[in-house]
Amino acid sequence: MLKVSGRQQTVTDSPEGCGGTATALRISAGISNGNGNGNDRTTDNCRFSDNWSGSGFNSHDAIRDMQYDYLIVGAGFAGAVLAERLAAGLGKTVLLIDRRDHIGGNAYDELDAAGIRVHRYGPHIFHTNAKRIVEYLSNFTEWRPYEHRVKACIDGLLVPIPINLTTLNTLFRADMTPAEALVFLAERADRLRDIRTSEDVVLRAVGRELYEKFFRGYTRKQWGVDPSQLDKSVTARVPTRTDTDDRYFLDSFQCMPAEGYEPMFRAMLSHPLITVELNTEFRQAREYARFRHLIYSGPVDEYFDFCFGKLPYRSLRFVHETLDMPQFQPAAVVNYPDEAVQYTRITEYKYLTGQIHPQTSISREYPSSNGEPFYPVPCAENEALYKRYEALANQTPGVTFVGRLGTYRYYNMDQVIGQALSVYAKIETQSRATVQKGAEVAVSDDAEGRVDARPRPATDVQLP
Ligand SMILES: Cc1cc2nc3c(=O)[nH]c(=O)nc-3n(C[C@H](O)[C@H](O)[C@H](O)COP(=O)(O)OP(=O)(O)OC[C@H]3O[C@@H](n4cnc5c(N)ncnc54)[C@H](O)[C@@H]3O)c2cc1C
Repeated sequence: MLKVSGRQQTVTDSPEGCGGTATALRISAGISNGNGNGNDRTTDNCRFSDNWSGSGFNSHDAIRDMQYDYLIVGAGFAGAVLAERLAAGLGKTVLLIDRRDHIGGNAYDELDAAGIRVHRYGPHIFHTNAKRIVEYLSNFTEWRPYEHRVKACIDGLLVPIPINLTTLNTLFRADMTPAEALVFLAERADRLRDIRTSEDVVLRAVGRELYEKFFRGYTRKQWGVDPSQLDKSVTARVPTRTDTDDRYFLDSFQCMPAEGYEPMFRAMLSHPLITVELNTEFRQAREYARFRHLIYSGPVDEYFDFCFGKLPYRSLRFVHETLDMPQFQPAAVVNYPDEAVQYTRITEYKYLTGQIHPQTSISREYPSSNGEPFYPVPCAENEALYKRYEALANQTPGVTFVGRLGTYRYYNMDQVIGQALSVYAKIETQSRATVQKGAEVAVSDDAEGRVDARPRPATDVQLP
């Protein structure tokens, strides 16, 4: 999948230029690695690597003999957080399955053939304002400070996005002060009253010229439709800054798992009550697995055999490449709004990990309407269709739907973790209330208050 190819490094003066295609990209000289403050190897000495023995990847035969408290479908954040909490918090037995050959869901990262850590499904930047989520994840990882910066290739120049003072001064060859930039933007913004579409949102924020330069082409490529056809929620907010702050996110906590996402997931799932089974479809597992409750983080429409029709998703194709140069571009991500360029953005992973390596690995993202479901397409029609599935889900006993696919929502990682922790809090409250009433028959406490949650022979299985 990954190939190594040579590439000439050229030097450019500031402002940084770009040519509209990657081959024409020019990069600044003098930076030998990412942002220069990271680890030199990210996972070779991974402290979680031999931790799977307590649970690990079991054969179907071993699983057939077990009765699990929970079958969890999907080993992304939604499934992994719930597996960890139910096992470590309530002493429940969990069978966690995923159709893919790895844990971590879309946040999965790995070392490529060159030994560079890359994100298989595109760049995943962790940022949040929720202290409880940071505290929770800190049980499984140390952190590496990282503030994400993105540039856009506009008119042959690389400029910061979100639009800031530097962006405006570079593009318009001006020397505005913050106050002048505020007036500049206000003069250009459309005075629309009725904001219904994504186009309206951007026109009102920055006006037509900047809309066409930064947003129109990018959105058309990303979503396959014109912004005038897309719900306003897709670009509900267009952050523009009149200072020189070029950070992509402003959240109070911005860090990456120090060793990577996959090692963090391993640490979460390394619990003797959790069994992980990969390359396993739910349809397959339900035939042989015995469990009391199902937690499902796969697509909700698929669960119900698409009985009301398919929920539309936008997909992406990632093309990964390793290059014989220490650095390829001057920021972690460069966006290409130009519709003549087929991909939407290029990510250079060493910025995210801080890894020092003589080569560098990048990925290009090509949006597509076919392929794995990545982004729910927000519009009134799709929301109405989801509501029908949601009503069905609410009437399905013994199943809890979670995650971005299970609830058809575009969630960031911290939001999915928050959702999973909230679901767990409800289960915990119910479980403790049941135990108090002495009505819980499946799990019994011993004299010292420890929970006996060893796998037991099957008694009941709930399926939709
Ligand atoms: C390109 C891209 C970039 C992103 N960047 C960021 C970012 O920078 N920051 C951020 O906070 N968020 C980002 N996100 C969002 C982030 O990926 C999600 O919030 C998070 O991964 C959702 O976790 P999840 O567990 O709900 O779903 P997923 O990670 O998708 O996990 C669901 C899992 O369920 C499995 N599954 C589904 N159906 C079945 C079945 N029938 N049987 C067996 N297994 C099944 C799938 O294989 C998958 O592994 C990004 C998303 C994308 C697509």
